[in-house]
Amino acid sequence: MRIDILSIFPEWFAGPLTTSLLAKAAARGTLDLRVHDLREATRDRHRTVDATPYGGGAGMVMRADVWVNAAEAVWNDLPLATTAGATEPPPDAVYVAGGARPRTLLLTPRGRPLTQAYARELADESRLVLCCGRYEGIDERVHDLVATDEVSIGDYVLFGGEVAAAVVIEAVTRLVPGVVGNEASPRDESFTSGLLEYPHYTRPAQLRGRGVPDVLTSGDHGAVERWRTEQARALTRARRPDLLADEGPPTGGHAAG
Ligand code: SAH
Repeated sequence: MRIDILSIFPEWFAGPLTTSLLAKAAARGTLDLRVHDLREATRDRHRTVDATPYGGGAGMVMRADVWVNAAEAVWNDLPLATTAGATEPPPDAVYVAGGARPRTLLLTPRGRPLTQAYARELADESRLVLCCGRYEGIDERVHDLVATDEVSIGDYVLFGGEVAAAVVIEAVTRLVPGVVGNEASPRDESFTSGLLEYPHYTRPAQLRGRGVPDVLTSGDHGAVERWRTEQARALTRARRPDLLADEGPPTGGHAAG
């Protein structure tokens, strides 16, 4: 999968993208991660990406022309700087070679909430483009002209879309075959079966007077399976009854609530 990120803080991604499994997947070629500096798509000497809002009000808004230039360059595999210094106005419509723009995600609090199901849908794409807003957000016309998706990572407001983009990348790429190997167990994982995952235990067997549940050291795999299913249900009922109401338990039992 190829992922292009557009941000005024490309250096922000140095940590998240070069650490751990993402870096390994990139080194193997399973993932192609490219971070672009939005300012390279500006046309003025000061590389301005924002302006005061029409109609007044607090804060600054990211300019539509810069975002359209940047998205077009990325979609068509051109350097962002090819638009810098150009004298012609932005085109009437966005241009994508071949006509099909890659799935282009604009991070915004008003977007479609990111869920495991949504991440799974995105994991099927061969290419994603992530647009990180800053300030008060991005000119509304960019939402229309550039984004195929508006994505929110939760009901709170961040300084910028970079953290949200990193969250989307982690949630999506760990579902891409070959990125995680055996480390994730997709069947049991939280939200996959409609339940939270069961509790895990590892060494030591005793800690500050606390042992581990006997069943886990019994060697009885059937009993372990049953215990884990019960625990997953109990946890979900206690913490997230909304999941049971939404999706129902996986084995046809009666949904609580
Ligand atoms: N004025 C906007 C918030 C802007 S926050 C509003 O009230 O809705 C600045 C940028 O941070 C946004 O453009 C977006 O890219 C990013 N951002 C903030 N919160 C986010 C969230 N919950 N999910 C995804 N992106 C978010």
